[in-house]
Amino acid sequence: MPLQIVRNDITKMKVDAVVNAANESLLGGGGVDGAIHRAAGPKLLEECRTLGGCKTGQAKITKGYNLPAKYVIHTVGPVYEDGNHGEKALLEACYRESLSLAKEYGCDTVAFPLISSGVYGYPKDKALKVAVDIIGDFLLENDMTVYVVIFDKAAYKISEKLFADIKEYIDENYVSEENTADFMEWYNQNKNR
Ligand code: ADP
Repeated sequence: MPLQIVRNDITKMKVDAVVNAANESLLGGGGVDGAIHRAAGPKLLEECRTLGGCKTGQAKITKGYNLPAKYVIHTVGPVYEDGNHGEKALLEACYRESLSLAKEYGCDTVAFPLISSGVYGYPKDKALKVAVDIIGDFLLENDMTVYVVIFDKAAYKISEKLFADIKEYIDENYVSEENTADFMEWYNQNKNR
């Protein structure tokens, strides 16, 4: 099933690659970055030190070390100011660049957190829409299973109708990460409701 939205801790996902919402230094931080480094162990930081950082909107790949995932794709989301500073284009680039690296490394399954939607302040409903749009476009032309991993309660307490429906969808399908509901099929049926 190509795109699924699940509620989970991304460090627990058994996928070929997990995506990390990193900062430009790639030397670790809080939020999902801290959780990934803690779970992967110190060798991840050692490898990150060799990469020379990463620009906003770009992505770099490392091994996953102690994670169940084989790779970590580190991407740097934009800091959200007011939406008029190119944030959307940069966030879209994060998803595109990460998916393209995953493809280059032969990944069949990839899990994304909601990039930029924590400390970097991107509104969660808008961040989710960018994720779904870009991943959806990619999956029209590529064969991969992509998970969007929602972690905290605030991430699905989002107001618009569509996203209220997404919350419903997540709740209904929150059985296991192996659930087989096809999010894109559901999304296309429901987006104009
Ligand atoms: P950013 O600096 O890009 O905003 P954050 O790590 O602060 O990155 O937050 C990005 C998103 O990741 C937030 O929605 C946050 O709730 C979520 N998150 C934090 N920890 C985890 C985790 N262990 N698994 C999945 N998502 C997580």
